[in-house]
Parts: sequence; structure tokens; C-alpha cells
Amino acid sequence: MRERNERINTISDYLRDRFDAKVVKLALDGGFTCPNRDGSKGTGGCLFCSEAGSGDMASSIDTAANLQSAMQSQAELLSDKWPNAEYLAYFQSHTNTYAPAAELREKFEAALSCELPGGKKVLGLAIATRPDCISEEVLGYLSELGKRTFLWVELGLQTASDKTAESINRCYPLCVYDDAVQRLDAHGIRIVTHLIFGLPGEGREDMLSSVRHITKPLPSGRHIFGVKLHLLNVIKGSRLAEMQPGYEPFGSMEEYIDLVCCALRIIPRDVTVHRMTGDCPRRLLISPPWSYKKRSILNGINALMRELDAHQGDRL
Ligand code: SF4
Repeated sequence: MRERNERINTISDYLRDRFDAKVVKLALDGGFTCPNRDGSKGTGGCLFCSEAGSGDMASSIDTAANLQSAMQSQAELLSDKWPNAEYLAYFQSHTNTYAPAAELREKFEAALSCELPGGKKVLGLAIATRPDCISEEVLGYLSELGKRTFLWVELGLQTASDKTAESINRCYPLCVYDDAVQRLDAHGIRIVTHLIFGLPGEGREDMLSSVRHITKPLPSGRHIFGVKLHLLNVIKGSRLAEMQPGYEPFGSMEEYIDLVCCALRIIPRDVTVHRMTGDCPRRLLISPPWSYKKRSILNGINALMRELDAHQGDRL
């Protein structure tokens, strides 16, 4: 059995404690689009995003009808590696609340009712979206879902700086994120916020300032449920690759590892850590050239935390 991480509150340890099982996500492309690609908010997408909409690992499904077979075949494959695993359905690609509530209901309910190998059902849902795509109708449905299943909603903030947000074509300001967080929190919905380290124009202090912003206490007194810290990858098919193909967000892997450790030390201990690096398929990666060495990066973060005798949240 894998050892638990005593220094970092990882989501895998959290889920193992909560469900007494290894919990694996079934990554799904629910056939949604993105308002930052279809022209309603912007065109061309965020600077770093590939055509697949930040879901290059996800199974593609266009309708509720083939969603269940995509889930079953992923679970079948994963069960070879983890025969006793339990599953969450992860709507990963594009903007998974950018549709009428009836369409969301059809797809999310299909995921929840899907019969997986061994007669299992998913434990719940993880839904990735933009904070400007949570209408009152959608919020009402999410609130209902949150009362009957395990749910978290992921918000792609990437940076708390409006200046950087404009330069990466995110197409909404920070106040929209803050408002969505307050509305979701008021309904007790778990929130996971994505940040990207290494965006063009940002220095170390800008990135740590984004970490401080998203981990402030919410009006309910809670913190957000989780953070995803991404290393910026220059990916084939992104606008960043066209505009600055040689862009290197960090001078070395060690510099990135040091930054992540500093970030972890200012993240409250109850906030779960879902990601600490990038996860771009190697065939799509342009830069940084060491980014695909995910295991080395994670080992480096854990080794530095040990060397410093550091713990998540010990610098708050
Ligand atoms: S990162 Fe998200 S919001 Fe930005 S273009 Fe890609 S899918 Fe759309």
C-alpha cells in the first residue's frame, strides 16, 4: 500500500481516508465547448490551451448515449492496475457547465447512473468549468447534485492578476472568479481552483500572490476545497506555441520545485492538493523540455519538503 504524504494534504490521501479505497478519476470530454473559443467571450482560447481544451487525456463523448461506454472502457483498463479502485467521473475538457441545465442534467445523471465493471457506480463528480459559466439555473442544479453525491467544481483561474489574465486572453476579470466562489460556497459546493505557474510576464511573487488570493478564508469561514498547481507547458496547437515557441517558463526544474514548495507552505493545511505539475502528453509538449518527467518533479518536491522539514501551511 502506498505511503501517505505526511507533509502535503494530497487529494489521493484525502479520498482514500474518506472512501477507504483508492479513488481514480475517469477523465471525460463531455462534448461541451468553451465561450472563449466560440466567440461568446472570446476567440482562439486562452494562450496556453490546446484545441482539446485542457483535456488532452480525456475520452471524447458527444452524447449522453456514448458517455457510459467511454466510462466503462476506461474503468476496464484502470481495473487492471487497480482492481479494487473506486471511481469519480471527471468532466475535464472545455467548459463543462457551458450548456443549458437540461443538457448538463442528462450528461451528469448518465455518469452517476453508469454501471461500471464489477457492478460499481461512480462515487461522485468532478466538473471543470469557468467561473463566468455558472448561471443561477446551473448553480441550482449543482447545489442539488452536491446534496446527493460527492461533488467538486473546478475553476480555471490560472492567475489572480488581471493584467496577466488579459495578456493570456482569459476573458474574465478576477472579480468574476471571486463572485462565483462566493456563490458556490454559499451552497456548500466544494471548489478546486487551478493556477498556472510560469505564465509570461509573471515573477515568483505574482505566483505566490495568486496562491494567497485563492486560499483566503471564504465568507462561510471555509477555504476552497482544493488547488491544482500547474507548470505552464508550451503545447503544440496552442497560441503560445505559435507566438513564443521557445518560451521557457523556468530556468530549471529545481527552480520550479523550489517555487512549489514555497507555495505549499502558504496553503492552509485543510486545502487538498490535486496537482503540483503539468500533465501534458509528451507528443504534444514543446517546453519546458523536462516537464514530462512528472515523477522526477514530484519526487523533487517531496525531497525538498523533507530536506527543509517543511509542511503544507507552515509559513502562514
Ligand atoms: S483553458 Fe479553459 S477557458 Fe481557456 S480556452 Fe481552454 S477550455 Fe476555454
